[in-house]
Amino acid sequence: MDTPDTSPTPLAPTEFRPERAFPTLTPQQMSRIAAHGRRRATTRGEVLVEAGDRAVPLFVVLSGEVQALRPTDTAETLIVSHHAGQFSGEANMITGRPAIGRLRVTESGEVIQLEREHLLAIIQTDAELSEILMRAFIQRRLGLIARDLGDVVMIGSIHCSGTLRVREFLTRNGHPFQYVDLDRDPEAQDLLDRFHVGVDDIPVVICRGHGVMRNPTNVQIADCLGFNEEIDQTRVSDLVIIGAGPAGLAAAVYGASEGLDVLVLESNLPGGQAGSSSKIENYLGFPIGISGMDLIGRAYAQALKFGAHVMVAKGATRLTCDGPRYTVEIADGPRVPARAIIIATGAEYRKPAIDNLSAFEGAGVYYGATPMEAQLCAGKDVVVVGGGNAAGQAAVFLATKARRVHILVRGPGLADTMSRYLIRRIEEHPAIVLHTRTEVVALDGNGQLERIRWRDQTGEIEGHDIGHVFIMAGAVPNTGWLGGCLALDEKGFVKAGPDLSSDELARAKWPLSRPPYLLETSRPGIFAVGDVRGGNVKRVASAVGEGSIAVAFVHQVLRQ
Ligand SMILES: Cc1cc2nc3c(=O)[nH]c(=O)nc-3n(C[C@H](O)[C@H](O)[C@H](O)COP(=O)(O)OP(=O)(O)OC[C@H]3O[C@@H](n4cnc5c(N)ncnc54)[C@H](O)[C@@H]3O)c2cc1C
Repeated sequence: MDTPDTSPTPLAPTEFRPERAFPTLTPQQMSRIAAHGRRRATTRGEVLVEAGDRAVPLFVVLSGEVQALRPTDTAETLIVSHHAGQFSGEANMITGRPAIGRLRVTESGEVIQLEREHLLAIIQTDAELSEILMRAFIQRRLGLIARDLGDVVMIGSIHCSGTLRVREFLTRNGHPFQYVDLDRDPEAQDLLDRFHVGVDDIPVVICRGHGVMRNPTNVQIADCLGFNEEIDQTRVSDLVIIGAGPAGLAAAVYGASEGLDVLVLESNLPGGQAGSSSKIENYLGFPIGISGMDLIGRAYAQALKFGAHVMVAKGATRLTCDGPRYTVEIADGPRVPARAIIIATGAEYRKPAIDNLSAFEGAGVYYGATPMEAQLCAGKDVVVVGGGNAAGQAAVFLATKARRVHILVRGPGLADTMSRYLIRRIEEHPAIVLHTRTEVVALDGNGQLERIRWRDQTGEIEGHDIGHVFIMAGAVPNTGWLGGCLALDEKGFVKAGPDLSSDELARAKWPLSRPPYLLETSRPGIFAVGDVRGGNVKRVASAVGEGSIAVAFVHQVLRQ
């Protein structure tokens, strides 16, 4: 049995600190909670919360003892005992996702019971309690992850692409899970063989002790774990944000903190491209850099804290703009109505035209370099394709683990596409080799990438036994789902604000006497921010800035 990756997660930006996880409240703090809740007696043996319960209340122990337990079919594992002044709950209290553990009274006494909506109100209005509760919930989630006390078991292998995908989905959602590695546990392999579980069925995910899923999609996992259950998709939100990268999350933080009813739809998991960055060094306020996952973890927790609803693995499939109200279609769901929309769907890397590329995605071909991918490359040669900052950053990061990093660029060098500080690090690093005017032409392997061929500047094709290729070349916007509603530029990015010509506005039948606001698209009340917007500077700071600015204009639109 292997332990899961314990990299920082969206709801867990720091390491586990037990003293911060289980604080004791002062009498003044307890009385502030009591003002919103109700006191009630408890009886030994009483179950206050069952694993799987939704929208559970918070309990503050006044007297007696309450234990948090992780139940399985046959046993219970003690997570912690709460005594007078201590409180129940963990990160799911904020997200509204089903409870992971059971809460049972082990010594009769008295508690304050605080319903979830009152808890969320306290978090938004009482700065001191907000800090104590948020910190404890996040720390407790980290503790669950560190102790493998999740309600998901995943049986996988690094030789199958689904394993990396599912591990990433659970990790970046901050959901604790146990990982059984088939490559190290022959008994697990034997068990799967007996149940005729084939290579294509890997990974097998056992969800909440009952649902057994073979190579499930992220949507199936999200559904099984009830990630989106608490969210009412049919209600008309003030603001629907599409995409939970830095731009979308910034808009969610500003929108929700300024009193808007905000719903975020994310087709995969929060973080976007920034979430796949090993270290962001040029974002203001982080002089020694911050990993993308850590930065996004904080932003995600912040958006939830202010009351934004974030749906994961629920992408927008179509924008409808011909009726009296804008709606967004989502996969397997109702049409989501909105009074205003912010499009923050970003961009993704252009895939080189290699026939069998998709066969190796996640099994040797990657589009991000996080500690999870780096772990697979220790002591090996790897290839990074691309000459931009993302490629440079990935090369420098991977060189800390890999034997050698080959950077392949089509152009004559890096000077036109990469920041000077990264170029210098690449030049000075003995394990990084730059190959200019070179491109990948073929990938070979049996399920897992084993060999790569590239054409160099002389036109000669070389083969190398390299099993890990990171593709980070050129971005294409995620605008295919817009259904012709908005004016796009020649590369498919959304046009907004002063970039829209009077002809484009006339073609779009712009109905107002005022011109579009900055960041407003060719439809009133629909804004485009971050990498998806034509002319945007492709940086975390600009995505965050645009997401925040757009909210100011959303207020104006809603007032009109
Ligand atoms: C590896 C890497 C390293 C980088 N390093 C740096 C750095 O050091 N400094 C820096 O300033 N910038 C860096 N960048 C660039 C930076 O990450 C991007 O500019 C930034 O993430 C753009 O933010 P965004 O929110 O606009 O879009 P994205 O980050 O692309 O996020 C878009 C989100 O929308 C979601 N989405 C897409 N389509 C749909 C749909 N139909 N429905 C719902 N959701 C959808 C996606 O899943 C994604 O989560 C890096 C990028 C990469 C890839």
